[in-house]
Amino acid sequence: MNTSPILLMAPLYPPTQQELESRWTVRRLFESADADALLDELAADCRVVVTTGGRGIDAAAMARLPKLELVACFGVGVDAIDVDYCKAHGIAVTNTPDVLTEDVADLALALLLATLRRIPAGDRFVREGRWLKGSMPLTQSLQGRKVGIVGLGRIGMAIARRCEAFGTPIGWHGPRAKPDVSWPWFDDVVALGRWADVLVAACPGGAATRGLVSRAVLEALGPDGVFVNIARGSVVDEPAMVELLGNGKLGSAGLDVFDDEPNVPAALLTMENVVLQPHVGSGTHPTRTAMGRLVLDNVAAWMEGKPLVTPLP
Ligand code: NAP
Repeated sequence: MNTSPILLMAPLYPPTQQELESRWTVRRLFESADADALLDELAADCRVVVTTGGRGIDAAAMARLPKLELVACFGVGVDAIDVDYCKAHGIAVTNTPDVLTEDVADLALALLLATLRRIPAGDRFVREGRWLKGSMPLTQSLQGRKVGIVGLGRIGMAIARRCEAFGTPIGWHGPRAKPDVSWPWFDDVVALGRWADVLVAACPGGAATRGLVSRAVLEALGPDGVFVNIARGSVVDEPAMVELLGNGKLGSAGLDVFDDEPNVPAALLTMENVVLQPHVGSGTHPTRTAMGRLVLDNVAAWMEGKPLVTPLP
């Protein structure tokens, strides 16, 4: 049996971490008082790193582990992992695709409806007894509004399917047209922002998509426009978004992700036209259990010399 120690970069869903630690020797970097000393100690024989989508692992840390062969990520987004370094050094990367798609798409629609229909504000209105003094102001509607999706992958497609059920026209932007998709493709995100009433970001994060939803895109979306982000905080020009939400040039936003989590721009905290979530798109017990299963199965496959279950292509 392979006795190579596993370096764990961040806490996992507790049942997953418990099983990982019961089956293999695991060293927790996140609890180490001296991370440098731990990396030195593991340099000779650490072949597996387990991390999360948020924590990832950078090239500098991987360079300290010259025997590294596998980075197993709890999450589908690998933007916090230096994948180029992994490719250059023959290190396999696994993630947790598909099992979280439906929950993340559900949250996108929940955020969209909560933002348009001001559901958190309505909840406060009832709890604070304001209903006893009069009616809540009317809200926007989803009906008759066009939804633009940035990134029509697994999650983007699941969002589009849900939008179809709500009867909204759909358009999308991605790096290339897809012949099997009948919804109109926009090769330019600003053009999609101009066409759409609601823009939902569902593309990967990382350098290639940083600021993709730019000031110009948000201005094109306009004063009645809604921006929903379940992708990564980095994909939007966050300072521009905050400014435009504050001065009314962008209508409203439903946000699950931020550029510097868990820090959220202070101005957003007092805005009535935003609905905020603490990055919980995949945060349900069944989905976290399924994600954990994939992490464990990938590590087990590597330990047993079998093909990885969900390697990055
Ligand atoms: P996926 O199946 O790989 O889909 C990503 C899509 O984005 C693909 O269709 C891809 O285009 C497209 N894309 C790539 N570069 C783009 C660009 N520059 N502009 C527009 N679109 C681009 O991944 P997924 O499973 O749907 O996950 C998508 C992302 O959601 C993850 O990377 C992660 O950041 C985020 N996520 C968030 C949560 C949460 O809790 N909020 C949970 C899970 C995932 P092609 O099809 O042409 O390759």
